[in-house]
Amino acid sequence: MKACSLFLVTFALIAPTAFAQRNFDDVEIKAIPVAKNIYMLEGSGGNIGVSIGADGNLIVDDQFAPLAEKIDAAVQKLNPGKLKFVLNTHHHGDHTGGNAAFGAKDATIIAQSNVRKRLSSEANSKKEALPVITFDQSASVHFNDEEIKLLHHGPGHTDGDSIIYFTGANVVHMGDQFFNGGFPFVDLSSGGTVEGYIKTVSVVLEKIPADAKIIPGHGKLATVEDLKSFRAMLIETTDIVKQGIAAGKSLADLKAAGLADKFKDYGNGFIKTDRWIETIYNSAKK
Ligand SMILES: [Zn+2]
Repeated sequence: MKACSLFLVTFALIAPTAFAQRNFDDVEIKAIPVAKNIYMLEGSGGNIGVSIGADGNLIVDDQFAPLAEKIDAAVQKLNPGKLKFVLNTHHHGDHTGGNAAFGAKDATIIAQSNVRKRLSSEANSKKEALPVITFDQSASVHFNDEEIKLLHHGPGHTDGDSIIYFTGANVVHMGDQFFNGGFPFVDLSSGGTVEGYIKTVSVVLEKIPADAKIIPGHGKLATVEDLKSFRAMLIETTDIVKQGIAAGKSLADLKAAGLADKFKDYGNGFIKTDRWIETIYNSAKK
């Protein structure tokens, strides 16, 4: 009996760790050159933006907690030096999981005010994981010979998204305001709206040069043309659902009718076609 309960206790202590390791052991962090001193890291979770240079290193987002060491090693390989800043595009765990590890190593975490609010209200939030510099509308980091701007364009994917502009390198990190090639996740329960999501994408397209490189929250490194196609998809699919609502159709009717065939491939990612229709519907009814 004693041995049995000891086994259970041991198993309970080991199991979650083993599970976490199994999930992330195979993940490799791959560095993709974007422009000048800016790189994109792919691993598991949201794409990471990296600025390297004489001032040290800065990252935009940090995926999941168990990947922090690998992310650190990947950045060190690009440029051995101090990680000085972590910018969070929003609060979701696949973009902020490494915060606690990097915050504990003295990196300064910066994010829109609602990111700190949401992270601090999470059940087992750690102090080191919280942004220490917050802003409502905009902030700038003058680093590695350029101005890195963080701009909040109102509610969109959540209520705390920032678009990060590397103004010298002509690179934009969109966070989850851009799912390249897929329907987006819009977090209505964290203050996001589909209307705001589209508005933010439009504002970015008005601001950026035609030859800017774009790091999406999820999906491959992108061009301005890719972002334009994404916006066209957002507008057309939203119109289809809104017209259906105006014609008195139920959510079940709308799902049964689906979207135009040309949007089929967008539903192969994280957000399936049915869920996208439901998100547009719920956002419109909010
Ligand atoms: Zn997200």
